[in-house]
Amino acid sequence: DPRLQAISDSIRVVPDFPKKGIMFQDITTLLLDHKAFKHTVDIFVDRYRDMGISVVAGVEARGFMFGPPIALAIGAKFIPLRKPGKLPGQVISESYELEYGTDCLEMHVGAVQPGERALVIDDLVATGGTLSAAIRLLERVGAEVVECACVIGLREVKGQRRLNGKPLYILVEPR
Ligand code: 5GP
Repeated sequence: DPRLQAISDSIRVVPDFPKKGIMFQDITTLLLDHKAFKHTVDIFVDRYRDMGISVVAGVEARGFMFGPPIALAIGAKFIPLRKPGKLPGQVISESYELEYGTDCLEMHVGAVQPGERALVIDDLVATGGTLSAAIRLLERVGAEVVECACVIGLREVKGQRRLNGKPLYILVEPR
């Protein structure tokens, strides 16, 4: 698919951000490039439009940029999975391991009903820890996670082992 090259080319790599040794994959330059942004959303929409997905769950913060246009196009609702203390209603939480310490995602209780079919969206998967917390949140309320989708990820993502057997769909490799 020639669109994938344009998507990859639009992602800026920032060395040593946010700390030394990290090659940060910056998707804000993808968002600046209308063609690349549209290709990204189109590819996901084509894949998910006929999968009976009723809810798209976006992971804070960059899952909030790709999730809503996909949800609108496939006729699903959008829910934000947020960092602790951001959601005003009643929440459930799932923590996950970081390189140093742990972090946590929260989801509004009542946003998703048992039996709903969910798609989880984020910009990038590295270890898969973040996506695995998202999957646990959705499964705790009885939803079925159909797939996780990211713009960027390693082909043989180590993270896949942490995704509890859920399929992972990736557009491009890190640059
Ligand atoms: P994981 O939990 O899979 O190890 O890390 C994925 C999370 O870290 C995602 O929420 C992603 O947004 C963030 N992340 C880690 N490294 C990068 C990076 O280089 N670029 C971007 N855009 N996000 C990153």
